[in-house]
Amino acid sequence: MRRLARMAAIAALAAAFLPLLSSCDPDEEKPKFLSKEEIEEIHERQKNNIDLDKYVEFRPGDCPVVFTVPHGGTLIENSLTLRSTSNCPDPDFATDLDYNTRELADDIDGEFFRQTGHHPYMVIAIIKRNHVDFNRKKAYAVPSGDEKLAKVYDRYHTLISNVLDTITRTYGHGLLLDVHGQSHSEQIDIGYLLPVSTLNLNDNTLNGGTYAANSSINHLYQMNKSRYSYAQILRGDKSLGARLYANGLECVPRPGNDTPGSTPYFNGGYTTLAYGSRNGGVIDAIQLEFRYSYRDLATERKKAATATVKSINEFTSALW
Ligand SMILES: [Zn+2]
Repeated sequence: MRRLARMAAIAALAAAFLPLLSSCDPDEEKPKFLSKEEIEEIHERQKNNIDLDKYVEFRPGDCPVVFTVPHGGTLIENSLTLRSTSNCPDPDFATDLDYNTRELADDIDGEFFRQTGHHPYMVIAIIKRNHVDFNRKKAYAVPSGDEKLAKVYDRYHTLISNVLDTITRTYGHGLLLDVHGQSHSEQIDIGYLLPVSTLNLNDNTLNGGTYAANSSINHLYQMNKSRYSYAQILRGDKSLGARLYANGLECVPRPGNDTPGSTPYFNGGYTTLAYGSRNGGVIDAIQLEFRYSYRDLATERKKAATATVKSINEFTSALW
C-alpha cells in the first residue's frame, strides 16, 4: 500500500508540473512548491532506478533444462560500486572473469536447439563479477548496503527461481547446469557439492552411506526409473562424466577418473547448493567448470558445446 500511495503522490506531482511545461500563459495556475521530503524522495527513487535487463540476460526455454552463467559478464560501469575485500565480507572473495563462458553458453543454446528442437532456459550475467558475484549468497555478492547492485543480484536469482517453479509445475523434474571456467587443470570439474574426501571413497562405501543425500543430484538418484546405484549415476557408466568422456571431453569424476585426488577441483558453489536437490525438491543442479582450451578458440568451443549438449541429453534421458 505504501508503494501505491507513493506512486499516486508522484503522479500527482507530475500532473502539477504539466501546465508549466505545456504553456507559457501567465494566467495559468502556478505549480505548488515541493516539500523537502518530496524532493528527497524523487531523488532517492532516481538514484536507485536501474535498467535490470542491461545487466542480466534471460532467454526463455521450452524444456526442463536451465543453464546459468554467473561469471562471464564483462560490463563495468563507472557509476556502479566495485566489490572489494573491504566492502564484501566474502571469505572466498574473487573477481576473476570466467573467460568466454558467455560465448560458450551461446554455442550451447544453439546446439541444444539444433540437436533437440527445444531451447533450454538461459540466465546469463552481463555485468562483470567486479560489481556482482551471482554465485554467492547475497551478503557476499555485492558491496554492503549497495541497493542498486542488490537489485541486479535479485533480478538474476528471481529469474532462476521463477523458471524452476515453472519447470517443477510443468515437468515434475528439472536440471540446472551452472557454467564456469577454470584454469587449474585440463579437465571439466563436474561439481555435485561432494568434497574430494568423499570422491576418494570406493563405490561400495558411496552406495552404502548418506552421500547421495548430501549431493546436488539426490532427486535424480532417488527417482531414477531403472534403479541404478548412486555411484553409477555419480561417476559410473550412467554418469554425466561417462557421457562427456565418451563424447570427447576430459572430465572428473567419470569411469577411470573417479576422483580429482590431489588435482585442484571445484565441487560446486552457491547456485548448485541453492537450487539443487540436496535440500529437497525435484530440481537437480550440477556445476560445470570448463577447462581453458574448451572455451578459448571458436572451433574448440563449438566442439565442446556440441559434446556437452549431447552428453546432457543422453544423461537425462537414461534417468528421467
Ligand atoms: Zn566461475
